[in-house]
Amino acid sequence: MNRLRGLLTFHTDESIASYCSRIAGALGHVHAQYFCSKQHFSFHGLAVGRPGDFSAFAQLLGVEDVELSSGLIVTEGHWHRLRGQTLDRTLVIRNALRICPHCILDDETRPFGRAGFRAFGRLLWLVEPIRVCERHGTKLVTAPPTSLPIWTHDFWAKLSAIRHELESFASQSRSMRRDDLDTYTTARLSGLPAPSWLNDLPLYVAIHLVEMVGVPIPMKPPHCSEMIAPLDSGMISPPV
Ligand SMILES: [Zn+2]
Repeated sequence: MNRLRGLLTFHTDESIASYCSRIAGALGHVHAQYFCSKQHFSFHGLAVGRPGDFSAFAQLLGVEDVELSSGLIVTEGHWHRLRGQTLDRTLVIRNALRICPHCILDDETRPFGRAGFRAFGRLLWLVEPIRVCERHGTKLVTAPPTSLPIWTHDFWAKLSAIRHELESFASQSRSMRRDDLDTYTTARLSGLPAPSWLNDLPLYVAIHLVEMVGVPIPMKPPHCSEMIAPLDSGMISPPV
């Protein structure tokens, strides 16, 4: 196996920027941007889904692009495309670190790659209407946004800055029930059935209708096990 690929496991629910950032950290780079520039591609370009930078990263790891595509976000102007859905800029949180502290602490206890760099950023934590950790039933925690561009997409660098507070975040985390919009948004981004007439609309339109007009979502929340299985089995359709 390619040395970098073997260093840390890529998870199908991880953002591509998180994976690159963790590899950079594991290789001793303070910022992913420095690592990427030494490898002759742009970290920012990778984070916004520029094809050349994405392919360069895949080549560096010795994998086909499709093996990493579940973590890709393609940003063009005010629009983001991920998991085959389109969201506008108000619905994607990119500069602030948003995490479930319980998941982050759990990650380090699992045997997936080099210790100290196992915690990873879930792609869906970037999506604003998804506010509750499905696994732990607690509200996601958002650290203050950074004003330094070099930090914007650098998951590992941002996590390192608050790592000493993780236990405190976890102990203070608040139990919260997932609302219908959270469940619906997760289902559409996970390629799961979401039985609602809202499915005929672009996802961002459906979300704004629900949030601003109060349109109800006529669906039963999928069972937890249904939500997790496709993510872990890599069955998500590649983004366009
Ligand atoms: Zn969690």
